[in-house]
Amino acid sequence: MNNFSYIQVASTKEATTAKAADKQAAFIGGGTTLIDIMKSDIEQHSLLIDINKLALLGIADDAATGLRIGALERMSAVGEHPLVVQGYPVISESLLASASPQLRNMASMGGNLLQKTRCGYYRDVAFPCNKRVPGSGCPAQTGDNRTLAILGGSPNCIATHASDLAVALVALDAKLTLESPKGTTRVVPLLDFYKLPGATPQLENHLAPGELIIAITVPAAAHARRSHYLKVRDRASYAYALVSAAVGLDVQNGVIKSARAALGGVGTVPWRVPAVEKYLVGKPVSEDNFRAAAALAVREAAPREHNKFKIELAQSTLTRAFLEIA
Ligand SMILES: Cc1cc2nc3c(=O)[nH]c(=O)nc-3n(C[C@H](O)[C@H](O)[C@H](O)COP(=O)(O)OP(=O)(O)OC[C@H]3O[C@@H](n4cnc5c(N)ncnc54)[C@H](O)[C@@H]3O)c2cc1C
Ligand code: SF4
Repeated sequence: MNNFSYIQVASTKEATTAKAADKQAAFIGGGTTLIDIMKSDIEQHSLLIDINKLALLGIADDAATGLRIGALERMSAVGEHPLVVQGYPVISESLLASASPQLRNMASMGGNLLQKTRCGYYRDVAFPCNKRVPGSGCPAQTGDNRTLAILGGSPNCIATHASDLAVALVALDAKLTLESPKGTTRVVPLLDFYKLPGATPQLENHLAPGELIIAITVPAAAHARRSHYLKVRDRASYAYALVSAAVGLDVQNGVIKSARAALGGVGTVPWRVPAVEKYLVGKPVSEDNFRAAAALAVREAAPREHNKFKIELAQSTLTRAFLEIA
């Protein structure tokens, strides 16, 4: 691990200004992934800006404005909060299916959304990797790609997005509030926040220099109240998703009034599937309709040698997730 400086900041202005002044600086929330990455020499940072004293806490729900979660709330606190469990079960379930209890007690909501991919080549500096060292190559294209993406990839990168939470949030139209070094804030839909890899897989999101995630907001809706996260993985716990599905339904008199669907473990970004949602609206609840809708989710899939199984697995996971809340 390389030497670095550390400061603890008392205001968001101090945090964003310090980050904007040093291109090699990083905010540290729970540190559960950042420190790993620094120890493994995947990223080097000259300065860690500890944001834990900032007033970025709070979990509140309101019929008009929806759910608001401070960026420094811990994953466990949000996952277990009654407002989230009752009004937004897909968020609670995605959090409680993530990592381990110890990690969830430490890890923050903002940090979760900015965690790096688990692609093994990215994590092992003995290999080239376009995301880690732009232009060096992508051994995953023909190498061990079993866990990698079948949607949204490019010849330069097929790394999956690792966050379970992001899949649930994307399904529910969540937004991020971001504060800039000038002290201004902007609100960005999470769906537009992440970037596809294209020719620049090292650029993962639209965070501007120095910007800090302040809060996450999620609209209140009937499909949020009746929602679910289903995660399929190699082990029953403490493992990333091979495939996951975040779904929501508003059903009245047996007919679907609105639907929400997103997939994890298959896309280079949390993968919302609007074609599935559109297909279901106005149709009666039935297994056949869920299966037909799920087939639309993977029409664009471009699997590599070892991850073809994800095409079928994504459809069955999505279908099962819908059936479990229908
Ligand atoms: C063994 C293991 C298993 C795991 N399993 C899962 C899993 O199954 N599912 C899953 O989703 N996750 C999993 N994780 C990842 C875990 O959820 C993340 O490590 C955690 O959420 C990161 O949060 P943190 O606060 O510790 O982030 P940090 O490590 O502090 O920071 C992560 C990144 O976010 C940036 N950052 C932090 N807060 C902010 C902010 N407010 N604004 C701007 N930038 C910010 C940091 O600069 C850094 O780049 C696992 C991690 C480990 C180590
Ligand atoms: S898939 Fe992306 S992260 Fe993995 S080796 Fe290729 S460029 Fe690197």
